[in-house]
Amino acid sequence: MRWTVGVALVLGLVVAAPAGAFEKDVLKTSAGDLEITFVGHGTLILGFGGKTIHVDPFENLADYSTLPKADLVLITHGHGDHLDAEALAAIRTPGTTVIVAGICEGKVEGAVVMRNGEERVVAGIPIAAVPAYNLQHKRPDGTPFHPKGEGNGYVLTFGGTRVLVAGDTENVPELRALKGIAVAFLPMNLPYTMTPEMVADLARAMQPTILYPYHYGNTDPTLLVTLLQGEPAIEVRIRQMK
Ligand code: ZN
Ligand code: ZN
Repeated sequence: MRWTVGVALVLGLVVAAPAGAFEKDVLKTSAGDLEITFVGHGTLILGFGGKTIHVDPFENLADYSTLPKADLVLITHGHGDHLDAEALAAIRTPGTTVIVAGICEGKVEGAVVMRNGEERVVAGIPIAAVPAYNLQHKRPDGTPFHPKGEGNGYVLTFGGTRVLVAGDTENVPELRALKGIAVAFLPMNLPYTMTPEMVADLARAMQPTILYPYHYGNTDPTLLVTLLQGEPAIEVRIRQMK
């Protein structure tokens, strides 16, 4: 396996990893354990109360036919590494609720569209859609990589534990103003999302107990640890989320 991955890296290929190959964390909440599976890139699986939540399932990262079916799928926006019809088809059942951002309206049959600011309870889990967009990082023609109003981050509440999966965003005022976030997944792949300095700025404002840099591409996630040395209340946890 080690050899295969090494060769794949040399060749620049992405190998779909088998189930069970991913790092996992278990966090205690007032309503039971929250299991986080770090699939990679901007993609997660959350397990809570017997329910399975897939976030931005992406076929390049995993063999989704071997992964648990979804009770809930959250799609943050329409880019191909976040909205992937093949991965979605592999985990979707008639009982699956698929929540998509406004920009994905009409792209996933039967999906529930949540726009920035909307809230719902699905499978007993309160979900809030929060804005995800660029202020600084833009295409050569001046369009932000992620224009305001199109994509979502999601705040999910498990027992008393509020978890933010931020999607592709920068340290925008709406996120800086969020209160009571215990666990934050913040992106830092460049040039599309945040520099480590932007992530550190957002973390200082938000004060999560646990900060997971995710979707970090070629950015060195350990830079964040250095930047947040003066914030002992924030634990930076680095997992394989390239
Ligand atoms: Zn994107
Ligand atoms: Zn992305």
